[in-house]
Amino acid sequence: MAAPAPVFDTPDPGFADLLAQRPALSLDPMAGLMLEEVPLARIAAAHGTPVWAYSAATLRRRAGMLKAALFNAGLDASIHFATKANPSLAVVNLLAGEGLGADVVSEGELHAALAAGVPASGIVFSGVGKTRGEMRRALEEDILQLNIESAEEAAILSEVAVSMGRRARCALRVNPDVDARTHAKITTGLTENKFGVPIAMAPDLYARMCAMPGLEPVGIAVHIGSQITQGVASYAAAYQRLGDLVRELRAAGHPVLRVDCGGGLGISYRDETPASPEALAGAIRAGLGGLDVRIMLEPGRWICGPAGVLLAAVVIEKQSSDRRFVILDAAMNELLRPAMYDAWHGILPVAAAAFHAPVSPADVVGPVCESSDTFARDRALPALPPESLVAFLDAGAYGASMSSTYNARPLAAEVMVDGARFALIRERQDHAALLRGQRLPDWTG
Ligand SMILES: *Cc1c(COP(=O)(O)O)cnc(C)c1O
Repeated sequence: MAAPAPVFDTPDPGFADLLAQRPALSLDPMAGLMLEEVPLARIAAAHGTPVWAYSAATLRRRAGMLKAALFNAGLDASIHFATKANPSLAVVNLLAGEGLGADVVSEGELHAALAAGVPASGIVFSGVGKTRGEMRRALEEDILQLNIESAEEAAILSEVAVSMGRRARCALRVNPDVDARTHAKITTGLTENKFGVPIAMAPDLYARMCAMPGLEPVGIAVHIGSQITQGVASYAAAYQRLGDLVRELRAAGHPVLRVDCGGGLGISYRDETPASPEALAGAIRAGLGGLDVRIMLEPGRWICGPAGVLLAAVVIEKQSSDRRFVILDAAMNELLRPAMYDAWHGILPVAAAAFHAPVSPADVVGPVCESSDTFARDRALPALPPESLVAFLDAGAYGASMSSTYNARPLAAEVMVDGARFALIRERQDHAALLRGQRLPDWTG
């Protein structure tokens, strides 16, 4: 079944609008579309397609903007990059160099964050289903804190810590029951969602955690959803409730040193107008300022989404009854967001001449055997002969990290651009790698 195409009540932004909003991208009359000072065509020539390219300057600039917003709001805050948005070692390493820690949701991400140079003292472990093995590894590494999502998990973490002769620094993730007004698949702060404990149960559970021999509760945490673009009202409501909870816990004699404010700040893929870091910092200050707690933030998408493009080549254009299909060498197994969330990504041609050529509506699709392998419907694009390049914009978050090898398609290469230089940061997977680890029992042949 083909998913219904998302319906918008505004026209798609044109090529010039898309470029104007994205400072790392520019159009050179000779070299075509550039990321910083590198023509995207050069990256494709050097490393083939599909290929992800990330702008180092954008990562640094956005990390700096967040830090400045928190600092200027007078907040004592640390930023922990949600590595699930982009776990590339080079990306996490660059952000660690900017002073960011990491928010991880699996032992694999913990392992990668440490390998990328994030100090254990900057790592937070989130997630509803941490295994005992994952808890053990986190305690061995002595990370900053584990965010606990249920009474059941608190009891198990305490048991694991006691068995290791340790006490686990932990925060209680509460579910504030606010609607982040984002896509249903990425809203997390409603009672119906699986995340955290209902805020009404938090005081009792926090008290019990303080009495558990293996736990050292250090604060509370919240994360209400992702790609939040409807202002900061839902953040403000959540932080107000957290502020009340901090006061209530302290009145009962419990220590609350930190409040982890989560992530979720949205970006503009099409024409959304998400809140600024300053507005987010203002909401934190309004709810939690003056409480003498250390503020933690776990942004993912906001930092790395706008830093990345996915570069693909046209395999063929196909006219089918009244529809024009542009078939690319990239597919849903690279960029899953359109299939999974009906997401809209800007698509720009790479050749300079294509920016001024006449356009007509096209469906942009991949070669995978699923109708949901559709990136865009009725997108105004110039004629795109075979092997011409296109760039998907804002693909730096939940792009490569959500890739699969469906249809036995090797994982794409990744490149980082910094000014006029660029470097391969992940090799394209080869076909042998797809078979590695598989075994043939002697009774299948
Ligand atoms: C996914 C996630 C984040 C990051 O979300 P973004 O929308 O990418 O900012 C932060 N914290 C937790 C607990 C998460 O699950």
